[in-house]
Amino acid sequence: MKINILSAEVYNKIAAGEVVDRPYSVVKELVENAIDAGAKEITVEIEKGGKSLVRISDNGCGIEKTDLKSAFLPHATSKLKCAEDLFTVQTLGFRGEAIASIAAVSRMKITSKTEAGEAYSLSVTGGAFGEVVSAAGANGTCTEVEDLFFNTPARLKFLKSDTQEESDVSNMMVRFILSHPEISFTYIADGKVKYRSFGDGLKSALSIVYGAQTLSNCYEIAADKHGIKLHGFIGNQNFSKPNRSYQSLFVNGRYVVNQTVSAAVTNAYGAYLMKRQYPFYVLFLEISPEIVDVNVHPNKADVRFADNQIIYGSVYSVVSAVLDGNSRALEYLAETPKPVQEPQPAPKEKPQSMEKPQPAPMSYEQAKKELQFDISPVGGSQPRFIERKPMKLEVRAPQPAEDIFAENQRFLLKQEKKQQVQEKIDPARLEYKGELFRTYLIYETGDSAYFVDQHAAHERLIYNRLKEKWEKREIIAQPMLVPYVVNANPQEFAFLEKNLGVLREIGFEVEEFGESSIKVSAVPVDLQNINLEAFFREVLSSVESLRAVKLTDIIKDRLATSACKAAVKGGESLTEQEVRALIEETEGDMGMRCPHGRPVAVKMKKSEIEKLFKRIV
Ligand code: ADP
Ligand code: MG
Repeated sequence: MKINILSAEVYNKIAAGEVVDRPYSVVKELVENAIDAGAKEITVEIEKGGKSLVRISDNGCGIEKTDLKSAFLPHATSKLKCAEDLFTVQTLGFRGEAIASIAAVSRMKITSKTEAGEAYSLSVTGGAFGEVVSAAGANGTCTEVEDLFFNTPARLKFLKSDTQEESDVSNMMVRFILSHPEISFTYIADGKVKYRSFGDGLKSALSIVYGAQTLSNCYEIAADKHGIKLHGFIGNQNFSKPNRSYQSLFVNGRYVVNQTVSAAVTNAYGAYLMKRQYPFYVLFLEISPEIVDVNVHPNKADVRFADNQIIYGSVYSVVSAVLDGNSRALEYLAETPKPVQEPQPAPKEKPQSMEKPQPAPMSYEQAKKELQFDISPVGGSQPRFIERKPMKLEVRAPQPAEDIFAENQRFLLKQEKKQQVQEKIDPARLEYKGELFRTYLIYETGDSAYFVDQHAAHERLIYNRLKEKWEKREIIAQPMLVPYVVNANPQEFAFLEKNLGVLREIGFEVEEFGESSIKVSAVPVDLQNINLEAFFREVLSSVESLRAVKLTDIIKDRLATSACKAAVKGGESLTEQEVRALIEETEGDMGMRCPHGRPVAVKMKKSEIEKLFKRIV
């Protein structure tokens, strides 16, 4: 076989897939370039989820006319000169492959102007270079990427729906706004402004992304422990979220996903969290670059620490000290700066709505006041903050809740399969022998006895009826007097939007409402008594692909609950007629389980009873 040296064009097409696989990764690379160029204002515009257009404009340093062409060449970078620089690199990008890769698979154009020079532009289509031409433009750079993957149809096919791609870009933008609160970002999707930040600090950025209310539900942290700096915001004990999409971690300025930190925070919340609730946090970890390896993969938000235990221990002890309010908490809460006396000129572009004062997170001063109780309890009153955990570096094995959940599901499924022995007995052959504790009905047939849980049996029957109605689509929608509005973040909204059809099929009347909310104006009549807030919290908890619970499963669960409420309870005496009706309706199916998975009937053989009496061994 002959070895061919790939042409640059082919090579770049292959390499492109590693750096850019989706519109959001194009946005990521180009915004990082703008940040590296020292921009203070960055505008990101996308169309059709970024498939047809991604345009990033910045007011950074610009590119010299003579460098414009090199910017498109692979391994061309202004950020590294020699191998030694690799160890001190401060910029976000340094491989010099993003622009070359993107230009190989799109129609790309860069227009740029340095302060000293004129504006020039260069277009590259599918890797084919045009000419550097004069252009108009302000200081800075505008990079446009049109028709991503137009020349690689296979890759085009892997893109998700416009809404899904847009939601991933939005997420990316949220992370940029939070990690660079000193930069003013404007993010526009299909002509609509989705986010605009003002570059005036983290609190402002946080309230733009999550709403001003969120701040008042947070503690602000600024801690320095074992040479590890941790700052940012964590939700208070009652402010939890239905999924992990409200968690952001930045290590040395970079957004990362990291199991160790996420487990440390989650475990610190421990008992404060209800089942299937997740803490809210936006945390920044500054650590010496020697103990962190961010260079795992150019496109992965992954990070490795040289010493996971130190990281786990530090994060855990800081977060739990603050939540439990022990005396060390003071060291970790951010001190509120004294308010500036002179009136500050307001930035001219700031719209009215953003000028309302932001509610402050639990301040250092406030916390200090509350913590005095801890130090010197007044008049025997119960201290509000009690030191519940020892302050030593506690290292629990981080066990992500997701894994346990999946594990349990698998186990239960296996159990259920094992026990699903179909045992159908003609009800006429079941001889009713009476009831025990007003809960268990006793039947005899041949040399077996059956104990039937009347509640479980009834529940199952109601559930079956409801399910049948749903399956036959015989659903009646019950209009609500006051519509219920579900507010969602971009990820959640994309999920709901995708499932609107399913919700409608089962009798909900739902429609999009504003930018990222869903309005519910009718509910299926069988579920009219459900708690909508709890229901949607549960629906949204399946946003993460990790836990791909189907919406129909959640609904099944709801059905089970309403069946449970309607069914006769244990302890209620049934008339003989009711007993007969009940068992007839079961059609003698003794293998049934209630909708929660508990058995409806338990069988005991004559021989088992004889063993108890030692008649046989
Ligand atoms: P890298 O960022 O790894 O250096 P890129 O392919 O992303 O590689 O960019 C190549 C070079 O183009 C950069 O090193 C930088 O000199 C220049 N460049 C790209 N985008 C911008 C921008 N927005 N402003 C100024 N220079 C830029
Ligand atoms: Mg770059």
